Order: sequence, then C-alpha cells, then structure tokens
Amino acid sequence: MLVLVINSGSSSLKYQLRELADDGTDAPVPVLAQGLVERIGVPGSGVPDHAAALEQVEAELAEATGGRTIDAAGHRVVHGGERFTAPARVTNEVIRAIERLAPLAPLHNPAAAQGLRAMAERWPDMPQVVVFDTSFHQTMPREAWQYALPDEVYTEHGIRRYGFPRPRPPPPPPPPPGGTSHDLVTGLAAEHLGIPRGEFRAVVLHLGNGASATAIRDGVSVDTSMGYTPLAGLVMGTRSGDLDPSVVTHLMRNHGYDAEELDTLMNRRSGLLGLAGEADMRQVLENAASGDGRARNALDVASYRLAKYVGGYHVAVGGAQAIVFTAGIGENSAPFRARVLDRLGALGVAYDAEANRARVAGPHTISAPESAIPVLVVPTDEEQAIARLTWELAR
Ligand code: AMP
Repeated sequence: MLVLVINSGSSSLKYQLRELADDGTDAPVPVLAQGLVERIGVPGSGVPDHAAALEQVEAELAEATGGRTIDAAGHRVVHGGERFTAPARVTNEVIRAIERLAPLAPLHNPAAAQGLRAMAERWPDMPQVVVFDTSFHQTMPREAWQYALPDEVYTEHGIRRYGFPRPRPPPPPPPPPGGTSHDLVTGLAAEHLGIPRGEFRAVVLHLGNGASATAIRDGVSVDTSMGYTPLAGLVMGTRSGDLDPSVVTHLMRNHGYDAEELDTLMNRRSGLLGLAGEADMRQVLENAASGDGRARNALDVASYRLAKYVGGYHVAVGGAQAIVFTAGIGENSAPFRARVLDRLGALGVAYDAEANRARVAGPHTISAPESAIPVLVVPTDEEQAIARLTWELAR
C-alpha cells in the first residue's frame, strides 16, 4: 500500500511517500519520495496557499509512484482536544472540528485544516486519515492533567493539560489508539529491553526543536511536560517552557506587552534562542565549546530543567525501568545527553561515555552496566508511525 504522509505547518508542507507491506510494516524501500514546500502564503514565493503547494507535491510524486495510485493519505494534526482520542477518517465534519480547536494550536491546526481541504479537492477518492499528537496522552489520570484552577475554567473553557508529540505503530496489548513519537519510541524501548509493553515504566525524552518529557507507566502515558499548549515544560529551541504565570501579568501590567507580543516572546523568542542567541542545538554546543558564556548558560538551564523532570517522572511512574532519549537532539547530541545524565547521579544513573559518543543506528543502550536505570537512545520515525496508523484505518 502506498501512503502519503503530510505534515502541514503554518507556512510549510512536509511530505513523504511510504510503501507499506500487507502487514503494515515498512516495505524494503519504505521512503519512495520526500520533500518540503516552504514559504506557503508568503508574498512573492509563488506558492499562495496549501492547494498550490499540493500541486507542486503532485508533480514531484508523479515520478516516484511510477503511475500507481496512492492508496491513502495520513496527516499529522497537533491538537485533537478531548474529542479525538484516536486517529480518524477525514470527513467535512472532522475538518470543521479541527478548525474549532484552532485556539488551542493557533500555528498548527488552521494550516492542517487547509491542507486537508486542499487534499480532498485534489484527490476526492483518496481515503484520508488524521493522526493527533494529543491522542497518546489521553491516558493521563486527572491528577496529572488538571490545573489547580477553579473547576469552571476547565468545564467551561477546556483549560487542562493535553500533551503533545507523535504517532505509534501497532503496539501489543492495552495502549490506546493514536498517539505519537513517544508511543513509537516507548514500544521500541520496551522491546529492546525485553520488557512486555504493558508492564513498561519509563521516562521518554523527545528532544527536538520542540521538546517534551513523558512519564510511561504500564506502557501508556501518565504524565507529560507539555500542557494546555506545547509551550509548557522543557526549555526548547524558541519556547520558554515552564514559567510562573505572574511573569505574564507583570509584563502586561508594567511593561506594556499585549497578548500577541507575549505569545511571540514565549513561543518564538525564548528557549535556547532567548538565552544563547541561537535556537539550533548544534550551534549552541559549538558556541559553548568555543567559550561563549551565554551558550554555556543556556545548556545549563536546559539540562537542569530536563534533569528535574526526569527525577519527577521517575517518581510518577513508580520507578523507571528506562530513560529514553529520542528526536534530533536526543538521538544526535552526545554532549547534551552527557550534561543531563551527569545530573542524574542521585538516581543511581551511570553512563558509558564511549557508548554515549558512539554512532549507532537503531535502539541502543548508553548506560554503564552498574546504572540503576538503563539509559537508551531510540531513533524515532514520525512518518512511519503516521503511515502505519493510516494503513490501519484505510485498509
Ligand atoms: P528535530 O526537531 O527532532 O528535527 O530536532 C532538531 C534539533 O536537533 C535542532 O536543535 C538540531 O540542532 C538538533 N540536532 C540535530 N542533529 C544534531 C547533532 N548532530 N548534534 C546536536 N544537535 C543536533
């Protein structure tokens, strides 16, 4: 089966064409084509909207498919609110529901809805599936998702923690349908350690441009660091992560910030960018290595915050059986992993410096034999996870 995986950002559209075998696993040559259309809607870019972007994608796909029809399309959607606890087949009503959730993910959901509409017009007969980042975290207990605000703020306005990151292929027993990179990675980590997924307790660290930690108990999410929106939790490329909310009211009252400016400040100008002047971890590490004090400080703040989350989630899961690093930074940045692991001595964590530096494809262990908790690096593959879920619903 040929599955087109689409990830629509506010001004970009990423795609991959994947070939899945009859059992839903990747075929020997899984990625037949991939690409990125950028600057959608930017004046002068020649790509006025998502429909125009798809036209470009169609041209690029023609060669890769060699005349075969694409069997289904899978779309990543960031926010499914409380309604979407699992992937869904796309209908007009589903697209409208995704649009109604725009206040929860203003950068992502409207773009995804546009992409879905454009697809439906261009390929009306192709089954489409949406996969939500939030679904995997629907297993969080109320004690983990509720804010200590008056009840009506939740019941009337839906203010609660949702949790983000990405999709899972087919896990064995209980886990809920849908979900995310945390899900895929959880399954692979459990398998690597030979622990049944349904009994697995872990702290999964998805460290990319966006970053989150997830507490896994009995193989499912019981807590996660992102909150009502993906702004909460860890220090990210351009997002601040956790803040005292009074910072917001203070800046409004005393320094003239309005809501838009605060949004921009916290989502686009903070995190590594705010602290070090660079959002990209590679650059921050390079600058730190050549003596840049701001870069070093940024690494300290980010690794300290992350280590605190690991300690907290170790408690939340009742004693983790693994700490798992994934995504761009988690998979590739040995120096940043080392900074975090150096702080986890109190948990009995010990890592093998050489194993940490080694470049290994696939899930591997970087902890020392005596470590109280095994530490793993597990590569994620969001597109595979989305393709797999799409295959399940579309076949
Ligand atoms: P992602 O959002 O998962 O693509 O991750 C993007 C982040 O991963 C950026 O901050 C990159 O700088 C970081 N990254 C990718 N490769 C490396 C690497 N080899 N060393 C350090 N950071 C990396």
